[in-house]
Amino acid sequence: MNKYADIIVDISHSKLDRVFQYRVPHNLMDKIVIGTVVDIPFGKGNKNLKGYVIGFTDKPNFDVDKIKDITGVASMNMSIEAHLIKLAVWMKERYACTIISALRTLIPIGKKVNEKTQKEIVRIIEADELKSYIKMWDNKNYKALSRAGNHLLTCEKCKQSTIIKKADITPAVLSNLEKKGIIKINSERIYREPYNVNNIRRSKNKLPNIEQQKVINKVLSNLNKESQVHLIHGITGSGKTEVYMQIIEKVLEKGQQAIVLIPEIALTPQTVRNFISRFGNQVGVMHSKLSAGEKYDGWRRARDGDISIMIGPRSAVFTPFKKLGMIIIDEEHEMSYKSEVSPKYHAREVAIKRGEMTGADVVLGSATPSLESYHLAKEGKYTLLELKEKAASTNKLDVKVIDMREELINGNKSIFSDTLRNEIQNKLFNKEQIILFLNRRGYSRFVSCRQCGYVIKCDSCDIPYTYHAFGDKLICHYCGKTINMVSKCPSCNSKYIKQFGIGTEKVESYVKKEFPTARVLRMDLDTTTRKNSYDTILGKFRNGEADILIGTQMVAKGHDFPDVTLVGVIAADLSLYMSDFRASERTFQLLTQVTGRAGRSNLQGTAIIQSYTPEHYSITKSKEQDYIGFYEAEIKYRQVMNYPPFSNLLVLLIQSTNEKELIRRSFELKNDILLVASRMGLEIIGPSPANVSKIKNNYRRVILLRSTGYKELMQFINRYMERLSIKYKDISIQMDINPLISY
Ligand code: ADP
Ligand code: ZN
Ligand code: ZN
Repeated sequence: MNKYADIIVDISHSKLDRVFQYRVPHNLMDKIVIGTVVDIPFGKGNKNLKGYVIGFTDKPNFDVDKIKDITGVASMNMSIEAHLIKLAVWMKERYACTIISALRTLIPIGKKVNEKTQKEIVRIIEADELKSYIKMWDNKNYKALSRAGNHLLTCEKCKQSTIIKKADITPAVLSNLEKKGIIKINSERIYREPYNVNNIRRSKNKLPNIEQQKVINKVLSNLNKESQVHLIHGITGSGKTEVYMQIIEKVLEKGQQAIVLIPEIALTPQTVRNFISRFGNQVGVMHSKLSAGEKYDGWRRARDGDISIMIGPRSAVFTPFKKLGMIIIDEEHEMSYKSEVSPKYHAREVAIKRGEMTGADVVLGSATPSLESYHLAKEGKYTLLELKEKAASTNKLDVKVIDMREELINGNKSIFSDTLRNEIQNKLFNKEQIILFLNRRGYSRFVSCRQCGYVIKCDSCDIPYTYHAFGDKLICHYCGKTINMVSKCPSCNSKYIKQFGIGTEKVESYVKKEFPTARVLRMDLDTTTRKNSYDTILGKFRNGEADILIGTQMVAKGHDFPDVTLVGVIAADLSLYMSDFRASERTFQLLTQVTGRAGRSNLQGTAIIQSYTPEHYSITKSKEQDYIGFYEAEIKYRQVMNYPPFSNLLVLLIQSTNEKELIRRSFELKNDILLVASRMGLEIIGPSPANVSKIKNNYRRVILLRSTGYKELMQFINRYMERLSIKYKDISIQMDINPLISY
């Protein structure tokens, strides 16, 4: 008999993030299981709160007389599978978050959601009778009633929203008609559908090619065995989506369900459309811009088995399917899979854990897998599957790399190399489209020599120094080392050494000057702040309303522009030397993605990459489209420098409005940590100014802890962080484990 329930109370306060015990009243005994959300009286005032049942016990740990009764099962039915409760407990341990924040990430609780109904209007009198009504209304000049009547002549049944719009009337007119006994208004419970499934044409399976069939067979051969992670390394255009869909088809045939994670809906509308056209109303779509009601409906439908496939960004990994068979993560290398707010989970890690708990398999797919995943695949922890050929076209992409140092020597100081300028002219003449790409990400204020390409780096971290105009200094954002700005290149003595940087606006003005007749669109954070402006710009470009699209990484993702035959990368170095050990990886990924935008149709595509360091492996390997070559060079660097996947990092972000205090206290904090951390084998780096060293008057510094094992970092957090946060409560400390962004 489950007499007492272990309950996590729905309240965000780290002190209350522990188990409370409540008595299960007799009448509720068979209604409450692990995962049930219940109403409970809490605290001195017996405030009515919600709680999550995470376990049961016969003998309570508290005084039996003081234990209160559960009031009831929460009115909105939000109970979940027991394994999801276990997943929340695992998240607390893995990401050092509170259980309640993990549970809240899992369950859309807290927001009041109205169940939505749709009203249907039914005419209940004959047309002739209605006609005589209309005559009378016309005589009395009751225009709205007459318009409604005429609409009802054409249809006996219609949606309330339709008649309101078509007849241009208010709901009051309809209630008037109902009172007169002319119509009946029916309500029915409907789910909010963010996508109109009926408007999307249905598609059939494509016949897989030999490579695709092999991959499909391999994944399917493991269904219903012990959970396995597969990594599909498939070049752009190799038909990964088709593979995912055929795998899922079999999963559904077995009566199981599937989750498909994509980086962001707005960036991958094609994938969503593909799934809906293949699987119709079995598909649910999650996305960050949905209303709370739409999210709740999607969640409910998944839990109640109304749909079998959920497609969405990272949070869709928590979809409460009861018979989960497969989790697919497309573009698994994307940064958006890691949450930047607490719990700072990585959807890939959660997916793999959930797979272990439920027996579901996990499929990761990418043209440029993360170093972490490919490394694990090479070690045999994941099965490595490959797609090396394009599925639909035979066009080879022509990639050229231009050495901008030579352009300078030849007297060309413009942002366009001669080659790029000529190609743009050609394409404009042929009425083909062009994308100019500026791979700006974060703040890359590194200092480099335009004559020889030399970049000034910190010798202990091998990370480029960041230029700070204030004081004319160079600072390493990893270890904090600071040196004076140089006036001559340490390598070739040239005076062309300076801070590197160019913005999209500048590119736009150069384009307008050099190609005055071209029609130009620009897409970056400045031009896409308004809602929908993103879609508007892309739509215009797709419709051929512009010749050239200038943009940042937003244009790099999976868009299909059939008329684009030229992609120009203005300055590949911009992302290559940001102060982040993942700079090379990001650059390789971005270049592969953006050059893949050219030549999607039958037209031959050309990509031109301009760089001051064209010999860098990120650039040479993306020219050759050689992921494995890139991986081998990069993994060596990671090993030598002891960066992930060979180590684990804990970032402590410390902030204060008082800069002097922040500096003093961050060094004190470092000393406190030194005492304990060295005994645990942790290395401490910093404190250094954060990449964005001031936000809204808050100064920011970073201390980095590095360890070979993950466990040691967690031990450190569990043993010391609570005490340290109390001692340093004058400066706020935030933690992030293995972040993908650079602080
Ligand atoms: P990826 O996601 O691997 O970059 P896509 O899934 O976008 O590739 O596929 C590229 C193109 O190839 C799409 O237009 C798709 O419809 C087509 N395609 C995929 N598989 C096949 C196939 N077996 N036969 C014909 N066309 C295919
Ligand atoms: Zn350094
Ligand atoms: Zn130089």
